[in-house]
Amino acid sequence: MLTNDRLAAWDRENFLHPSTAAGAHARGEGPQRIVTGGEGVYITDREGKRSLDGFAGLYCVNVGYGRMEVADAIAEQARKLAYYHAYAGHGSEPAIELAQMVLERAPDHMSKVYFGLSGSDANETNIKLIWYANNCAGRPEKKKIISRWRGYHGSGLMTGSLTGLHLFHNAFDLPLSPILHTDAPYYHRRADGTQTEAEFSAQCAASLEALILEQGPETVAAFIGEPILGTGGIVPPPEGYWAAIQAVLDKYDVMLIADEVVTGFGRLGSMFGSEHYGMKPDVITIAKGLTSAYAPLSGSILSERIFEMITRGTDDLGPLGHGWTYSAHPLCAAAGVANLKLIDSLGLVDNARETGAAWQAMLKSAFDGHPIVGEVRGEGLMAAVEFDADPETRTPFDAGEKVGARIAAAALERGLIARAMPQGDILGLAPPLCLTAVEAEEIVGIARAAVDSVAGELG
Ligand code: PLP
Repeated sequence: MLTNDRLAAWDRENFLHPSTAAGAHARGEGPQRIVTGGEGVYITDREGKRSLDGFAGLYCVNVGYGRMEVADAIAEQARKLAYYHAYAGHGSEPAIELAQMVLERAPDHMSKVYFGLSGSDANETNIKLIWYANNCAGRPEKKKIISRWRGYHGSGLMTGSLTGLHLFHNAFDLPLSPILHTDAPYYHRRADGTQTEAEFSAQCAASLEALILEQGPETVAAFIGEPILGTGGIVPPPEGYWAAIQAVLDKYDVMLIADEVVTGFGRLGSMFGSEHYGMKPDVITIAKGLTSAYAPLSGSILSERIFEMITRGTDDLGPLGHGWTYSAHPLCAAAGVANLKLIDSLGLVDNARETGAAWQAMLKSAFDGHPIVGEVRGEGLMAAVEFDADPETRTPFDAGEKVGARIAAAALERGLIARAMPQGDILGLAPPLCLTAVEAEEIVGIARAAVDSVAGELG
C-alpha cells in the first residue's frame, strides 16, 4: 500500500510507531495508514478512503472529530497565552476553570485534581502521591500496589508494571517488584463453568483477600482497577464484583485507584464509571475523554483524605517534589473546558446511555447463536464480541489462527474501524459518544458481515 508515496516511505524510514511490529513496518509489510481528516464518527485517509471509527481513535475522541468549538478554544488560548507553568502556585485561567469543572462532575468526596499529559503519567503520579501520603502519615511500609491480570494502566515503568497484559511486559523486564497482580474479573473464561456471576465475583474478592493477607495488609497501599476492563478485553464486571472488592479494600485499609481513563466523562452512560458501579475510589485517573484527545491532558483526582495526608507532608517537608513542565498546559486545559461544555450541551452522557443501550441490544441480537461467537458484552458505548472455536464449551481458537485480527481487517475493508484486542480473539468497539442510531446500525451490519466472512474462511 502507498508504495510510490514519498510520505509513506519517510514514515517507514524514520518513524518508530507505538504498539507496532517495528520490523514489518519498516520493511513495508505491515499495515500503514496516513489519516488526514475527520468529521463526526468518520475519518478519512490520504487515499480518500473514509471509515467509520468504531473505536474513537483509542477510545478517546468522545465528542467526535471536527468539533470547531474545541479547535477554536485551543487557537484562542494559543493567541492569548500559549504556555505558562503551574509550579509554585502559578496557573492559567483555563486550568483553574477546568479543575473546577472536573470536581463539579466528580464524586462528592473528591477534593483536588493534579493535571498531567497522559493516562500513563497520571497513574505514575497516583502511585507516587500514595507513597508520599503513606510516608507522611507514618506508615512507610504500606507501599505495594495490587493490579489485575488483563488490567491496562499505561506503558511507563510503573504503569507498564500495573498493566497485566503479557505484550507490555515481554522483554521489558516488567513488572517491577512493588506491583502484584490478582485475578481478572473475566467471567467468560472462568475455570468452573457451573459458577454464577456472583459466585465468581466472590472468588475474585477471596483471591484478593488471600493476596493481601499473604503479603501483610500493613504492606499493601492500593488496588488499581478500571471500572470495566478495557484493553484487556472490554469486560464489564460480573454481578457484585465491585461491592465484594470494595469490602476487602475497606477491611484492610487499602486505597482504591479507579482508572477512569476510558470510562471518565460518559462512555458508560454515566459521568464516571465509579458512580456507575458504586465504587468508592480514593483516586480517580482521567485522560482521554477529558479533552476528547484534541490535546493531551490527564488528571489525578484525589479524595479529601489523601489530600489531607499530602498537606501534612508539604507542611513538614516543603513543596511537593513532583511536577511536569507541561502539567496543566493552558492549551490542553482550554481544550478540556470546551470539550466538557460540549459533552453537556450535546447531551453526550445521555446519548451514551440511550443509544448505547439500543446498540448493545442490536449487537447481541446480530450475533445470537453465531457459530463462532462466544460472547457479546459491554456497557454504554463500549462493547466486545469474543470469538470461540466452540461457543458451547467456551473453547478458544488457536492463537495462531489470528481470528480476532482477521475479523478486524475484514471490518476495515468494509469501512469500519474496530480493534482486535491484544490478548484473545476479541473485537473491541468504542465509538464516539455522538453516535447516532443510524451509525449504530452501520457498525453492527459491518461487524456481522466481517465475522461471517472470516467464519466462512474457517470452514
Ligand atoms: N489507563 C487506561 C484505562 C487506559 O486505557 C490507558 C490507555 O489506553 C491508559 C491508562 C494509558 O493512557 P496513555 O496511553 O494516555 O498513557
